[in-house]
Amino acid sequence: MEEGYVIVDGYTDEPAGLGVPPYLDVYPRYVAGAIWSNLPSAQVIYFTIDEVRRSLDVFLKIASKAKAIIFIAGVSVPGKYLGGTPISLEELEFLSRVLEKPVKILGGPVAIFGIGKEGGRIAELPSRLGDSFDLVVRGDIELAVYRFIRERSLEKVDPYERRTDFGLIDMFAVKGAKIVLQHPNYSRNLIIELETFRGCPRAIVGGCSFCIEPLYGKVIFRSVKGIAAEVKALYSYGVKCFRLGRQTDIYSYMAHDTGKYEFPKPNPRAVELLFKSIRNAAPNLKVLHIDNANPGTLANHPTEARKITKIIVKYHTPGDVAALGVESADPKVIKLNNLKASPEESLEAVRIINEMGARRGYNGLPHLLPGINFVFGLIGETKETYILNYEFLKRILEEGLLVRRINLRQVLVFPRTRMWDVGTRVINRNKQYFKVFKEKIRKEIDLPMFRRVVPRGTILREVYTEAYEGKNTLARQIGSYPILVYIPDLLPLGKFIDVLVIDHGYRSVTGVPYPLNVNKSSRRLLEKLPGISQRTVAKILVRRPFKSLEDLRTLVREEQVLKWLRV
Ligand code: SF4
Repeated sequence: MEEGYVIVDGYTDEPAGLGVPPYLDVYPRYVAGAIWSNLPSAQVIYFTIDEVRRSLDVFLKIASKAKAIIFIAGVSVPGKYLGGTPISLEELEFLSRVLEKPVKILGGPVAIFGIGKEGGRIAELPSRLGDSFDLVVRGDIELAVYRFIRERSLEKVDPYERRTDFGLIDMFAVKGAKIVLQHPNYSRNLIIELETFRGCPRAIVGGCSFCIEPLYGKVIFRSVKGIAAEVKALYSYGVKCFRLGRQTDIYSYMAHDTGKYEFPKPNPRAVELLFKSIRNAAPNLKVLHIDNANPGTLANHPTEARKITKIIVKYHTPGDVAALGVESADPKVIKLNNLKASPEESLEAVRIINEMGARRGYNGLPHLLPGINFVFGLIGETKETYILNYEFLKRILEEGLLVRRINLRQVLVFPRTRMWDVGTRVINRNKQYFKVFKEKIRKEIDLPMFRRVVPRGTILREVYTEAYEGKNTLARQIGSYPILVYIPDLLPLGKFIDVLVIDHGYRSVTGVPYPLNVNKSSRRLLEKLPGISQRTVAKILVRRPFKSLEDLRTLVREEQVLKWLRV
């Protein structure tokens, strides 16, 4: 494979951008596009790190003949993933050392910021990795790969080069789109992360103390034309699910006077054009979701924010989440860490989204709900902070508002952020409060909220069966922060089914296939159905198969229960 290139996707997870399956982030697509822009007939082979683990021999055989291997990695906001396990530093070192011939290039957040293992831990610096790679790209990986192929020399590549606009990216994105065909989740539950801009408008006031986004420098927007062309290319290869996840605040897309104000005035016209163009480029898309929204933007510009919420709800698909980085409801912490919104402002943002987003959509979920992110271990945090955060969430619950998910995480401290000097001091000091708080929120806020968002009897459409855990099947819809569904039986994997919600955990629901086949379903599934006793199930098992639901009426009298069944 003389002109062959291999991409190893070690997965990425950043404040703005997710690349753990079923998500495919921008890096592999842009890198593939950078190669094909130079060498249209080059062979580019894509592996996820899970595929490498599963078939190491196959991978080594192919990779050893490649001209170059590009490793992409970096989890800077670690979470638990159902769809894959990000690459570890040890694996990166092993793979780079075991392959001698090809040029080895490392890029993505790991090369820029280090790698995060869990909240609280300081990200390990990548310096010790330097020796194992021929090039560690601390700028934009796709630009480095592009220059390397053009110049045919590593020496001529500036590993710190960063894009100043989206000119080349728009080309790479279209040319690299066909890499999706090689993704293991392709034609199953693959969802594509789309980029609309880079940087945070609040960088001009220094940004939040813990955040790496302001380090990207001034905000650069990507044109609607560029995004739509990429969507069209992806759609032509069969991609049907998209998320506008690669930006710090979707409400600030093309905002007026960005660079002048901390909260520039949102631009509803541009947002509408963006959504409309995506819909035109992918008319039969299945999922179109968003991710981050800045509560400060919504609270400072409520009129524009309402317009934008309306636009999102008009063009997106239901089950969508606007993740609000509230971070803290303690005014002292907000001030000391230069956070973006006061508790009142965050509450206002939650209300604005609820006004138009809470309506239930065709897939069983409300259209657009806020998600709330809290960060712990910040400067000035005390016991009082936990009390104030609790009161904030309690108010939301008591006002009858809906929140789709509450994310409580301890800060991961990155070099070059203001938190770097503080390290894990505050986390260690307040460890016991965090543990108790988490428990309290799960029980007193999450559970009642979850019951409100997905009440018993809700039918969730097109839930994808992904994995087994014990004797349960785990399934999720495709989209932003999908709800985990436990189905108490081992069902075939890789299928889309409808599910009836029958119970709630703190962060997941229990569901049974809808409608439930009374002749074929297991005893366990039938017993879970509300309104059917164990005795009735025993009789059903003896008497089945039933020819029609009418035949069942002697055993099951409740009309509601009959509606959940089929023969
Ligand atoms: S508002 Fe704060 S947390 Fe959000 S992207 Fe900007 S700096 Fe980061």
